[in-house]
Amino acid sequence: MMISDLHLHTNFSSDSETNPEDLILRAINLKMPYICFTDHNEFDYEDGLFILDMESYFTTLTTLKEKYKDKIQVLIGVEQGLEATKVSKTKEFISRYPFDFVIGSSHMVNGVDPYYPQFFENRTTYEAICEYFQSILDNLDVYDDFDVYGHIDYVIRYPKNIDTNYCFDKYSKYLIPILSRIIKSGKGIEINTGGFRSKIKESNPSLEIIKKYKELGGNIITVGSDAHFLSDFASEFDKALAYLKAAGFNYYNVFIDRKPLNIPIL
Ligand SMILES: [Zn+2]
Ligand SMILES: [Zn+2]
Repeated sequence: MMISDLHLHTNFSSDSETNPEDLILRAINLKMPYICFTDHNEFDYEDGLFILDMESYFTTLTTLKEKYKDKIQVLIGVEQGLEATKVSKTKEFISRYPFDFVIGSSHMVNGVDPYYPQFFENRTTYEAICEYFQSILDNLDVYDDFDVYGHIDYVIRYPKNIDTNYCFDKYSKYLIPILSRIIKSGKGIEINTGGFRSKIKESNPSLEIIKKYKELGGNIITVGSDAHFLSDFASEFDKALAYLKAAGFNYYNVFIDRKPLNIPIL
């Protein structure tokens, strides 16, 4: 059975034009038991670029959920951009809607998304990466209403000069507390296979970090392609499966109504 894809963008995200129904049909074809939509919601981009149209989102996805209920369980989630300065707004938003699954992600860091070259200007790549990890710690200090932290080393995809010596030890003063706090608060991480499609050709986080997470006692883990195009749906899930096993997991998680379910892997 194919691992269920729990991180997907559709035409409800301004950086995707994918029709959600096409993703569902593909998931049914691949015999996935579940599929979860996680469109972007962000408060800080210009012109409300990533503000999710909640009414239309739930109406559309609930209709599709009902239409395909005999073939697949459609779950409704969100990828919420986390910022320490937006805590009350974020709490209010997340608690207002009946999400199955909430990915908390760091995109906007002190006003800039590492996706843009500007994030890395006038400093070393090392300093920029440290700022990203520090912002995750800042978020974890003040906010915990999420289920998994999204692509925790997303920042390493984007420097002009990739950190070729990137490894756990180099950033362990951030990564150990990040993973420990996530574990302590009963939350999880995801294996985001979008990284395989970027310059780093590795998942976010890397296999090394997934292994450390398990060693530190982490037991909640989801898998998502972060597809913004239909063609990226479930991409590199064979590698994600191998990574789960290599890290010592014999299951992955699916979230329904914000509660984790263990799905055994063979
Ligand atoms: Zn993201
Ligand atoms: Zn995403």
